[in-house]
Amino acid sequence: MHKYSVMTQKYLDLAIVRNILSTPNWQPGEEHLQKFQQLYMQIINKNKRGNLTRITEPQEFLEKHLWDAIAGIKPLKILGKEEETKTAIDIGTGGGFPGIPIAIACPNYQVTLLDSVRKKMLLLDEIITALNLQNVKILSGRAEEIGQDLNQRESCDLAAIRAVGLPSVCAEYSLPFLKLGGIAILYRGQWSAEETKSLSLAAKKLGGEIKEIASLQTPLSKSIRHCIYLEKKEPTPAQYPRRVGIPTKKPL
Ligand code: SAM
Repeated sequence: MHKYSVMTQKYLDLAIVRNILSTPNWQPGEEHLQKFQQLYMQIINKNKRGNLTRITEPQEFLEKHLWDAIAGIKPLKILGKEEETKTAIDIGTGGGFPGIPIAIACPNYQVTLLDSVRKKMLLLDEIITALNLQNVKILSGRAEEIGQDLNQRESCDLAAIRAVGLPSVCAEYSLPFLKLGGIAILYRGQWSAEETKSLSLAAKKLGGEIKEIASLQTPLSKSIRHCIYLEKKEPTPAQYPRRVGIPTKKPL
């Protein structure tokens, strides 16, 4: 039995959360931990009214929602650097992941949570209010349409996207939102050399390139994760993202 499997109650053991999320350069403070606890309770509660996530056991929640979100931003060295105001978007946020943990860990990031399912977004809005997260807002709509909105296009320093589609679809959804120099994080499970090759080609068409690929092992279940970091090098051509449904039907 793993030493962390003692966390069986319907709340997070914050000593374990601190231990699992701490990095050599950053430790979650008391305020972060309280917000993570509130987030967990809220998700359990709101899940009764809408399917926000199927990950509801405390240990799984810690690993698959909190650790995963934070692990993705670690290499960017933005944790604990709160002097500059920045903007981020979580595309296809579902139950608010990875966007809400990123917003809690990085209060200087103004985070937009985007999803096409309005019902989920209304529940997320209640969660944001309950947690008093001043740096988070919600947006209902399709990434293909919102990515063509001139108020949203090229407006973000960071785009996060997890479990939304093929890598090239994620690139087509995320790169239009980025400012030049901005970074998209594609949260993935397994990853192959062929995927690197095809994502590179897709990213190039969209004005981006692969900056880094991080290979990770999750701390509790020892599963494989990869985070792919795309950097926006040039403006994304106006035809991208293509019309609703086309990126998935005809991936780049
Ligand atoms: N990112 C969350 C996570 O990792 O837990 C949720 C992943 S869920 C499998 C995929 C989400 O992406 C769904 O909530 C779905 O509504 C949303 N989605 C899929 N395609 C989308 C699009 N084109 N525009 C906006 N949201 C989209």
